[in-house]
Amino acid sequence: MDSEINQETNKNKNESVNIENCIIIGSGPAGHTAGIYLGRANLSPLMFEGDFEQEIAAGGLLTTTKIVENFPAFPDGIDGYELTERFKQQSTKFGLKILSESVKSIKINNDSNSNNQIFSVSTNTNDYLTKTIIIATGSTPNKLQIDSYDKFIHKGISTCAVCDAGLPCYRNVPIAVVGGGDSAMEEALHITHTASVVYLIHRRDTFRASKIMQDRVLNHPKIKIIWNTQIKEVCGTDFVEKLILVNNDLTESELVVSGLFVAVGHTPNSAFVKDIVELNSNGYIMTNNSKSTNIKGIWACGDVQDPHYKQAITAAATGCICALEVEKYLHTNS
Ligand code: FAD
Ligand code: NDP
Repeated sequence: MDSEINQETNKNKNESVNIENCIIIGSGPAGHTAGIYLGRANLSPLMFEGDFEQEIAAGGLLTTTKIVENFPAFPDGIDGYELTERFKQQSTKFGLKILSESVKSIKINNDSNSNNQIFSVSTNTNDYLTKTIIIATGSTPNKLQIDSYDKFIHKGISTCAVCDAGLPCYRNVPIAVVGGGDSAMEEALHITHTASVVYLIHRRDTFRASKIMQDRVLNHPKIKIIWNTQIKEVCGTDFVEKLILVNNDLTESELVVSGLFVAVGHTPNSAFVKDIVELNSNGYIMTNNSKSTNIKGIWACGDVQDPHYKQAITAAATGCICALEVEKYLHTNS
């Protein structure tokens, strides 16, 4: 078949080494969309979806949200986990191979037989060779920079309402949420189903969240907004019991709550490639319009390279761009 580029086998010292056409790192909407396109192009892409034991959960951020209302084709919305499962069904149907491994590093090898680069990709268990790489590793929720954060994480502090808000310890008690973006709005709204009252603490006097989410929060009878305020400390014996708040005029106060949900933005998952590809000052991978990085043969898509839009649909769109560029590159350079 014309469009088919076979994976190569390098014979070296009687050992055969498989060289993948493309390795996709990450299994959110960006990675799976790239997988669908490359699979349909008969390029047998290989995806590393992350290894839960290495604290990298497959499926990406959408698995932590109950309802996605703005992804086209779902007029009634769709559960985030189900949407991710559907991405996976579609990409594997077209031949995407998926391994539950987490990538630790990438190395550039010089291919002595051509001008093209071959890359080594090392995971927590194995090493792989590939002609091209698509980085689609998304981002991780930020921690709150306070001393007591580590003491209380999973003991009253959570970064995922969908995962934790239904637990008995968070039911029918006052709960706080910190942040002013869409994630904080979503967390606060979700927690209203189970908590007695939700305090939404924000460091400024306006939210950065989308208008529709702001309106839902501002009009919700169970949500009380605490503007211009930061959390100085979390207190409790073994579990969160109260917060010490500090207003922007430096007035301190106490807020009795039984849980704190933190939604203060995300950091791109790019540390493992920081010595290979160019990052901006906030750690986002630098890409051009074709989603190419500064290294020939490596592309990046989704939230790991997007400081602005960070939506499922934009992640999917850039996954598509990467796949089309990889396909063109493999045809031109093989
Ligand atoms: P992700 O979805 O984050 O996926 C990245 C993947 O990479 C993960 O599977 C991760 O495990 C994997 N990974 C990371 N590092 C490695 C590694 N070293 N090796 C292997 N795998 C690795 N957007 C919307 O459009 N609509 C919404 O309603 C919406 N709701 C949201 C609700 C919440 C609570 C949050 C936090 C975000 C929401 N978003 C929403 C944003 C959306 O989830 C992201 O924009 C989107 O998931 C980004 O896709 P991605 O593929 O770039 O990254
Ligand atoms: P954002 O970066 O949009 O918002 C982070 C919020 O946390 C900001 O309000 C910021 O305050 C605040 N913040 C940051 N650091 C601190 C700190 N140290 N202490 C207190 N507050 C802090 O991140 P989100 O996770 O909310 O959203 C990420 C992306 O995911 C966005 O693009 C969003 O649209 C998307 N998303 C979409 C959803 C949807 O469409 N339904 C749902 C959830 C997320 P400040 O405003 O002052 O900077």
